[in-house]
Amino acid sequence: MLLQEIFKKYSTEAKSKAAFKALRDEQGVVCKKCGNNTHYWKSDKDKYQCKKCEFRTGLRNGTVMEASKLPYQYWMIAMSLVTATKKSFSTMEIQRQLGHKRYEPIWLMMQKIRMSMGNRDDNYQLGGFVEIDEGFFEGQQEKEKDDDKKDKYQAYQNKGKRQVKVLVAASTQPSSKLHKNKSKPKTVVKFIKMKVLDAITKEGINYEVKKHINPQSQAITDGRRVYSDLKNILKGHQSIICEDKKEVSKLFPWVHIAISNAKKMCLGVHHSINKAYMQNYLNEFCYKFNRRYYGAKLLERLLIAAVQKPWYG
Ligand SMILES: [Zn+2]
Repeated sequence: MLLQEIFKKYSTEAKSKAAFKALRDEQGVVCKKCGNNTHYWKSDKDKYQCKKCEFRTGLRNGTVMEASKLPYQYWMIAMSLVTATKKSFSTMEIQRQLGHKRYEPIWLMMQKIRMSMGNRDDNYQLGGFVEIDEGFFEGQQEKEKDDDKKDKYQAYQNKGKRQVKVLVAASTQPSSKLHKNKSKPKTVVKFIKMKVLDAITKEGINYEVKKHINPQSQAITDGRRVYSDLKNILKGHQSIICEDKKEVSKLFPWVHIAISNAKKMCLGVHHSINKAYMQNYLNEFCYKFNRRYYGAKLLERLLIAAVQKPWYG
């Protein structure tokens, strides 16, 4: 959708709210109290009323918009903008496009949209052949209490910059095309996942792998000990010991391409991401990458993800 089409489609609050309600009606509302899924619409109250137990569900309840006081129009436009390009929009740019005075509510809205993208992708596990490696992203971190004790020079050196450790996995399949160019990967990538780790430990990696990779998969990693349990968790694990760094990136081409593109997004659009929110930005990157062939359907899918399930769980 072109930007002018987005602003035309959601040109008023009434149009935006109607579009959101139509989407909720289509996806169905489930009563929180009794689990029934048939409701009356109480237009005077802006609520659905359960046909069985009369419990009322607000139009925003149980969706990404729950507890938000921002207009429906903002949400619909923001979700349209997020899916309109392969690149990302900065919060500042979205705030400017919406003409809203305060930065914080727009920032929070964008974080929630990115969380709902992550929740949706968490419904799926990677399968088949999976490349696994780590990436190091530059992030900011709240000043730690210890920092006050350090000398000024060291505090300056540390100035809140932290490397954020990210586990990156890419499912691939052999390429049917023969490339003359030998540096091109011999596989094609299907789906990717990126998960922020507190530290690179065996336990942390095992946890994420169990959660996000199908046990029938075949993994390929470098030879470090942190990956030594994967042979017990997955059907197959190929561990490659390689001294030459250039060779390593040839062995795991897709995780490295994904890391480099995600870094470009983080540095180019969203400067200085706080470590605590890095996962949300990676969610957006992975969500859009995993649906790169959806075209105009991407917005529809995001809207469904945003109304179907609470963004927080
Ligand atoms: Zn009910």
